[in-house]
Amino acid sequence: MALPAFSDNYLWLWQQGQLAVVVDPGDAEPVLQALAEHGLTLKAILVTHHHADHVGGVRQLQETTGAEVFGPAREDMPTTFTPVMQGTALELLGQTVQVLDVPGHTAGHVAYVLPNAPQTPVLFCGDTLFSGGCGRIFEGTPAQMLASMDQLAALPTDTRVCCAHEYTLSNLRFACAVEPRNTALQAYTAHCQQLRAEGKPTLPAQLGTELQINPFLRARHPDVRQAVAHHAGLSANEQNDDVAVFAALREWKNDFK
Ligand SMILES: [Zn+2]
Ligand SMILES: [Zn+2]
Repeated sequence: MALPAFSDNYLWLWQQGQLAVVVDPGDAEPVLQALAEHGLTLKAILVTHHHADHVGGVRQLQETTGAEVFGPAREDMPTTFTPVMQGTALELLGQTVQVLDVPGHTAGHVAYVLPNAPQTPVLFCGDTLFSGGCGRIFEGTPAQMLASMDQLAALPTDTRVCCAHEYTLSNLRFACAVEPRNTALQAYTAHCQQLRAEGKPTLPAQLGTELQINPFLRARHPDVRQAVAHHAGLSANEQNDDVAVFAALREWKNDFK
């Protein structure tokens, strides 16, 4: 379940029987409330990266519940934690949890994948991939972020994408500026506008849909490449350089109003 926090964060809580795992608890309060309301015991806390809106509640939750904290090996956390990295596999609540290194937004950002989750695989990707967009590149490089996008794009298409923020509508506005003739994107935008009008989250997204509508997963598509080249005035050489196109796409989004 998605617990709303702050203005646009989601804290993802996953449960099995009376046990629960929470991802990126930026605030302890909504998590403690959900635990009490559903009679759940918190077993583990998964952290994707060090930003305050993702770790702000970790210490309090760890102290109150005794849950084990897992976080990126290459980042600092406000508490003691078990470091994880690419290749780490955890067993939590009867589920295998695989860790991917997805640097770019921060230098050590990780994502968590549940490949055998009931129904379809689940991805907790923090601030790396958003529905219709991707995180800002604060600490990493465009090349790293593109490699992270590629790694997530290779997951099964029915993967449920659990992002940490409800940024979908503003991302889709930008996506429509990049690919005005993408009919899947137009249909998805209408669908998400409807959800938000009803006060519902647009998440989890589905990876297969994201591959059709998210320009940051489509940076190699000729339409996206051309739009970016035109907007940023890229030379023919730059236009054939995947990293240059991705970097210009991200900068275009940074300035997009
Ligand atoms: Zn962040
Ligand atoms: Zn965030």
